[in-house]
Amino acid sequence: KPLGLHEIRSAFLDYFEQNEHLALPSFSLVPQGDKSLLLIGAGMAPMKKFFTGEAEPPAHRVCTSQKCIRTGDIENVGKTDRHATFFEMLGNFSFGDYFKREAIHWAWGFLTDVLEIDPNLLWATVYLDDDEAYAIWNEEIGLPKERIVRLGKDDNFWELAVGPSGPCSEIYFDRGEKHGCGDPDCKPGCDCDRYIEVWNLVFTQFDKDEEGEYHPLSNPNIDTGMGLERIASVLQEANNIFEIDAIHAILEDICAMADYEYGTDKKKDESVRVITDHIRAITFMISDSIVPSNEGRGYVERRLTRRAAKHGRNLGIEGAFLYKLSESVIDSWKVQYKELDDNREVIARVIKREEERFLKTLETGMSLLDEEIEKLNKEGKKELSGAEAFKLYDTYGFPVDLTQEILAESGFTLDEAGFEKEMEAQKVRAREARDDSDEIGWSSASSFELNDVDEAIEFVGYETTEVTEA
Ligand code: ATP
Ligand code: MG
Ligand code: MG
Ligand code: MG
Repeated sequence: KPLGLHEIRSAFLDYFEQNEHLALPSFSLVPQGDKSLLLIGAGMAPMKKFFTGEAEPPAHRVCTSQKCIRTGDIENVGKTDRHATFFEMLGNFSFGDYFKREAIHWAWGFLTDVLEIDPNLLWATVYLDDDEAYAIWNEEIGLPKERIVRLGKDDNFWELAVGPSGPCSEIYFDRGEKHGCGDPDCKPGCDCDRYIEVWNLVFTQFDKDEEGEYHPLSNPNIDTGMGLERIASVLQEANNIFEIDAIHAILEDICAMADYEYGTDKKKDESVRVITDHIRAITFMISDSIVPSNEGRGYVERRLTRRAAKHGRNLGIEGAFLYKLSESVIDSWKVQYKELDDNREVIARVIKREEERFLKTLETGMSLLDEEIEKLNKEGKKELSGAEAFKLYDTYGFPVDLTQEILAESGFTLDEAGFEKEMEAQKVRAREARDDSDEIGWSSASSFELNDVDEAIEFVGYETTEVTEA
């Protein structure tokens, strides 16, 4: 029987403790004393100061399993097999202690000796001119040249807006052709789900300043990150990161609530996975004291809640339901995060209130739309104007696909081009407003509070100031 998710976490921390690392508990999702980040999105993020030397680390070798939120991945959630907005990142870190050689050997040892992954299914990537890493993989580990790929800055250079950065080397697992895109040249770096990136080893040797200049660090560091859910999905041969031991109970609860049989409808499966993801993110955020609001982190949480609620509606679930699902999240994760259990009631209450607010929004929109339909009927028209649909969306936060769905039910259509035009105009207005404000100033909702309930565009704005994908 393959290891369960919680067992993998323990095995990881044990392995690095045996190699003289200090195991620390996960830091909060809320960055402490760091205004450049909205949310923690990587294991190294809460430890930036140790990398730059601004603060003295508790030890020169540290390992963690860090709670992470990556809103920039939201559009991938449910669609790819490997992306979540919330996940845990396993990591081992060296603060001016060991460097490339040890990092690569230990990663390989953990994957092949401890997790017993077939070495023939593993690939490595290195940064374009990183011959040192290439040689370690090829000559010391014995990885054949055919399974070492050189990749450019997009994939193999890690950096945040400011701070520690450097080239990386990533380890991929080949899940086989059936998960692939069909391209005969498909290999690590392809965006499909065949070669799944499990571990990123970052050789942090620079400090990037506000102007984007890279300064060599006197003591190079190591920062690694492996998605816990992702490696669990590999070991358990699960279809995706939501169908693994510690998560699929949530997925099943959603299906039960919707009276839906998972695997019978592609769109609905996607909705089930989106809800599975978002409820995890929301539950962990509230447990870290983030509450829904119109700005910053609270705004991210509000949007995740509303997006999940809307997907629930796609599945035919009526009324508030997310708050009940937080129970399954807490039940399967309290072994590691006791604070979830301690905050059980608060978490459910916060989610329920937010869901109910959103349902009210939907109700208001619905009755306004009914009036519009009546008007169209009287005027003998068949199409709702883009401007009317936009008003519903902009002023009342009524999602446009719902407008379309309801129109269709009564035999009406929407002037989609007209709606798109209104959207474009609004994006220009929003951009202009944003240019005038400071970095996260635009994230305060103002008149856009309820917009883009299911659009990632606003989220992505955070991510670009936050994390450049490594
Ligand atoms: P990908 O290319 O698959 O999007 P990434 O290169 O953006 O991954 P890194 O920034 O290198 O990911 O993060 C380190 C590790 O964290 C990855 O190798 C992966 O195992 C895990 N990880 C990254 N993003 C996610 C996510 N959205 N959901 C789950 N795990 C993730
Ligand atoms: Mg990648
Ligand atoms: Mg990514
Ligand atoms: Mg990566």
